[in-house]
Amino acid sequence: MKAVVVERGASRPTLLDVPDPEPDAGEVLLRTLRVGIDGTDHEVVRGNHGGYPPGDDYQILGHEAVAVVEDANGTDLDAGQLVVPTVRRPAGESNRYFERSEPDMAPDGQYVERGIVGAHGYMSEFFTSHPDFLVPVPDSFAEHGFLVEPVSNSEKAFEHAFAARSAFEWDPESALVLGNGPLGLLTLAMLETESSPFERTYCLGRRDRPDPTVDVIERLGGTYVDSRETAVDSVADAYEPMDFVYEATGYAKHAFETVDALAPNGVGALLGIPNDWEFEVDGGRLHRELVLENKALFGSVNSNARQYEAAKDRLGAFPDWFFDAFVTDVYAPENVEGAFETGDDVIKTVVEFDAP
Ligand code: NDP
Repeated sequence: MKAVVVERGASRPTLLDVPDPEPDAGEVLLRTLRVGIDGTDHEVVRGNHGGYPPGDDYQILGHEAVAVVEDANGTDLDAGQLVVPTVRRPAGESNRYFERSEPDMAPDGQYVERGIVGAHGYMSEFFTSHPDFLVPVPDSFAEHGFLVEPVSNSEKAFEHAFAARSAFEWDPESALVLGNGPLGLLTLAMLETESSPFERTYCLGRRDRPDPTVDVIERLGGTYVDSRETAVDSVADAYEPMDFVYEATGYAKHAFETVDALAPNGVGALLGIPNDWEFEVDGGRLHRELVLENKALFGSVNSNARQYEAAKDRLGAFPDWFFDAFVTDVYAPENVEGAFETGDDVIKTVVEFDAP
């Protein structure tokens, strides 16, 4: 079958003919429809993040997928059912995090991540999985169901943010998303759905207009903040103090500047994954600010099946125009190099194996 892989020592994706996967007992065979590409895939291809499956000289890429059950293989799923696979699997034997359905909270070493670290991903014509790691989705998700995975990451961050403010009456109104990449824009769209309590939203970037991401921000109802004019630690003065800040730039200074952007009693979620970078911060002032203003700051990675379920509902509430503006290109596996090209006119690219 066709698979998009990165070979050991290479730093670009290639199409390879690999053996068809055979489902073990209790596993399902899936036919891939579409696989989205995100910043993590770029990092995996560059060799900055993740790692090859043990003993293999290539890794099949991709962790944002939507697929069809091709062979239910005696499991409770039905052939033809549409599913979204989760990303983490136990490293070897199962462990308490997986048994509690909280693989997202497993520490490093207790999990592999399909398409990222230690396991093959979903960017191939077929893949296999245990049904416990498959989230059924309605047929209407064939085209954009691959977005359930990234949206679920933000559902987790929202859940943790609200939990961190659950000991008192928190009535948030303002939210700032740092980053106008795919994760930032998806999160802004989530904050703009009807069930969201936020009345005013902002999204930070560093692009000149006209720019497709700025268009999406404004069409969603958010205010575009240009970090070249307004640094994150000046946002509270220039706009307003934020009840919630969601960081999706991977720009390490933003982690600390978030404390200044927050309103008293506010909460900041850090999602970006930066490289090492040494710089000076006034740690005493930030520590004092967190304590005396009851602010909270936390990191969040990955998501669990409950958050995938929440993501399904949330995606269903997105306006139709958003998908057309957000998914800028769809590529055949044969043209995968194009899917990994970046540019100011590219927001989200997708590799399509089978028509939705
Ligand atoms: P991208 O790299 O595509 O997006 C980052 C965006 O932030 C870009 O649009 C970039 O602007 C903008 N940006 C970076 N620095 C600044 C700055 N100083 N001022 C203003 N804007 C800035 O990544 P994704 O959207 O895919 O993901 C965001 C981050 O989240 C990444 O670090 C990724 O690794 C991480 N991630 C974390 C997950 C988790 O579970 N924790 C899940 C998925 C991703 P420009 O394009 O103009 O350079």
